[in-house]
Amino acid sequence: MNPILIVGAGIAGLALARQLRDNDQEFVLIEKAATWRCEGTGICLPANAVAGLEKLGLKEKLIDRSHQVHKIVFAKSNGKTLTQASLSNPPLNQQAFVALPRAELMNILQADMEDCTRFSTEIEHLEQSDEHVEVTFNHGEKGLFSLVVAADGIHSATRNLVFDEKRLDNLEVTNWRFIIEQDTRNLQPTYYVGKDEAFMRYPIGPNQVYCYAQKHDSTGRYKHYRDAFDLKPLFSNYCSEVTDSIAIAKSITVSRLYSVRSREVFKGRVLLIGDALHGCPPSLQQGVGMALEDVACLVKLLRKNHDITSALAQFKQQRLPRISWVIEESNRVIKLAAKGKFLIGRLIRNFILRKNGPANVVAWKKLFTEK
Ligand SMILES: Cc1cc2nc3c(=O)[nH]c(=O)nc-3n(C[C@H](O)[C@H](O)[C@H](O)COP(=O)(O)OP(=O)(O)OC[C@H]3O[C@@H](n4cnc5c(N)ncnc54)[C@H](O)[C@@H]3O)c2cc1C
Repeated sequence: MNPILIVGAGIAGLALARQLRDNDQEFVLIEKAATWRCEGTGICLPANAVAGLEKLGLKEKLIDRSHQVHKIVFAKSNGKTLTQASLSNPPLNQQAFVALPRAELMNILQADMEDCTRFSTEIEHLEQSDEHVEVTFNHGEKGLFSLVVAADGIHSATRNLVFDEKRLDNLEVTNWRFIIEQDTRNLQPTYYVGKDEAFMRYPIGPNQVYCYAQKHDSTGRYKHYRDAFDLKPLFSNYCSEVTDSIAIAKSITVSRLYSVRSREVFKGRVLLIGDALHGCPPSLQQGVGMALEDVACLVKLLRKNHDITSALAQFKQQRLPRISWVIEESNRVIKLAAKGKFLIGRLIRNFILRKNGPANVVAWKKLFTEK
């Protein structure tokens, strides 16, 4: 059988490559970048992401390098608690909830993978037949593959090359991420919700806090705000935990939030996984968990089915309902946050939060109950 081509050595691509290597299945892993690179922010991993890393045999390393959290707090901009929930009760306590610098997670996944990654490589052209996919790479080289797995992120070039729906939904939100040094002994993840902006403080180590800020921004004017000086006026009426965090922020990563609009999963022998399939706002922090669930499902189906076409059909059947729900729920939470722009919307949003509990915890309970 021809090898499997994995496009993109991010979280999804590396996880799949590791699993195929463990199963002695032939693959080629290509990566557009010239070398490993990673942004200097944090990443939060709910229980299903930890379960996914356990399946890859990486849980011990993860637990060593990450910080466990035990509850989620939602507060008003003045710091007054709106609602909170423990992560220690079923169904949330199947695994730990942890967080760590993103670079640490990537180091864990990249370890031993350099030799099997072809850097500076992209697909230039792709042609499908019933039996295989013929791929021409940017260097002019050609290859025949039994399956192409696109793990090339939310702006997937493979999706644009092969699939019909190329547009992403623009959530009209600008976000900023940075890590500060601060004692985290008494800190549990805290989300401050104000008007149509919000700020999260999430401990990722004994002396490191990952900060995430977002603001509804239909015109994109705030994406040019790049440092603490710019951010300060947007959060000037927030409590000191927030304003003090911004005051010491360095190297801020700025981005806009998008969601994959298409619900196409595969076409012929080209399959999407990870953010290429279900990239969406990080409201539920499901990016890694869902990517690892994709990998586990695909590997199981490839082992069970000799016929790749039926493996792909079953993958779609098993994954799509959960994926669609996560995208829609993540979008809904972002829209709920934006409701605070006007007083009446703020009152409704805060009422919903007080009544139901933290929006992400409510969604996690549903996700971890229905596997
Ligand atoms: C603001 C923000 C905060 C987030 N926070 C969290 C969080 O706390 N927890 C969580 O679980 N998730 C979070 N996510 C989501 C998470 O980052 C993604 O789900 C995750 O990175 C997806 O991994 P991936 O491998 O699918 O894609 P990516 O990480 O985007 O990796 C894609 C890889 O493909 C490569 N590539 C791209 N194009 C090509 C090409 N044409 N050819 C070859 N290679 C290519 C890229 O260089 C990259 O290495 C967040 C996302 C955002 C936007």
